[in-house]
Amino acid sequence: MSSGANFKQEPHRLLVIPGPIEVADDVLYANAHPSMSHVSAEFIPVLGDCIRMTRDVLLTSTGQPFIISGSGTLGWDQVASNLVEPGEDVLVLNTGYFGDSFAECLQTYGAKVDQITAEVGGVVSQADIESALKSKKYKIVTFTHVDTSTGVLSDAKAIAETVKKVSPDTLTVVDGVCSVASEEIRFDDWGIDVVLTASQKGLGTPPGLSILVASQKAIKVYENRKTPPNSYYASWKKWLPIMQAYEKGSPAYFATPPVNLIYAFHAALTRITKGSPSLSERLKLHREASQKVKAAGKELGLKQVPLDEKFAANGMSAFYFPEGVTGPDVLPRLFKKDVIVAAGLHKAMKEKYFRVGHMGISVVDEQRGDIDKVIASMKEAIEEAIQSKKL
Ligand SMILES: *Cc1c(COP(=O)(O)O)cnc(C)c1O
Repeated sequence: MSSGANFKQEPHRLLVIPGPIEVADDVLYANAHPSMSHVSAEFIPVLGDCIRMTRDVLLTSTGQPFIISGSGTLGWDQVASNLVEPGEDVLVLNTGYFGDSFAECLQTYGAKVDQITAEVGGVVSQADIESALKSKKYKIVTFTHVDTSTGVLSDAKAIAETVKKVSPDTLTVVDGVCSVASEEIRFDDWGIDVVLTASQKGLGTPPGLSILVASQKAIKVYENRKTPPNSYYASWKKWLPIMQAYEKGSPAYFATPPVNLIYAFHAALTRITKGSPSLSERLKLHREASQKVKAAGKELGLKQVPLDEKFAANGMSAFYFPEGVTGPDVLPRLFKKDVIVAAGLHKAMKEKYFRVGHMGISVVDEQRGDIDKVIASMKEAIEEAIQSKKL
């Protein structure tokens, strides 16, 4: 059987939306693994390793990973159906589109949701979080680490600290779909209870995996429920024994795992946790790439959606178009230059801005030249768009 060392994916347009992102050749090749039984002796340790390496990405020694077929959204369902019981109070810190959706998911399962909504491009202040936590006993507090609709990065460490200080029984739940592996997350040190993510963003794997890590404290909260989880497929009652079995090296079955995708995830996690550059070096490369893209935007006179550089994400950028220029003026021009960026998503201003992802191999494998290509194409496309409006 070929090792895949010579495998190279076909030439294609550069995908720099905030996920799915570009996938390395070895990751894509791993996805082409011959069919395997999900309970075979060869496959069991592959998922077992993925569980262990997921811990390494989040810097946790005791967190319990769940790796389940689904997209990032399934992480919300897992939280809503395993950690909250109908009628319990939940606080959602909302910094954009994904806060709205997480709140809606929680309500679907019967949670009573209060929200603190930041202004567009802003973050929720620690003082507001503190006073909300003092006013009511919340089962969980959720926030979006990077809201992909605004490019706003919330201060996960400070939020977790505030929750622990003001309401120590409340669980801190992080939507890290657009931050895991591109932003710093110290799960144990910061005292986070849940990080949920997906395969296709910073983790550089094709879409299709819901990845979630729960603290032992969160597992206790789940175990002490008075009512059973109110989901079937997302129930930890089903999945926890499966994850534990695979990690121990024994077969178990609840629902068939996406075997090939788990081979791909294994290859991606191996790069991130055991490869060169190291995880901390990777995060530094993301910060540097981000500064480069943001500086280029500034030079073009583009205003960023985040109101302050201090809370702008490192794995993506969101820029307003120049006055008089719109998405249809810019995005097709970028497409013609073989660069695919994302349109706006925030409902308040969808047409007014665009989003560029700078995550994974596009950042870490500097030989690819992706970031330089993005910057050069962005410059040409914006300048051409402005020119076209003058004529
Ligand atoms: C992409 C994203 C999601 C949803 O993930 P899917 O894989 O599309 O279900 C949730 N939250 C954030 C912050 C995201 O960026």
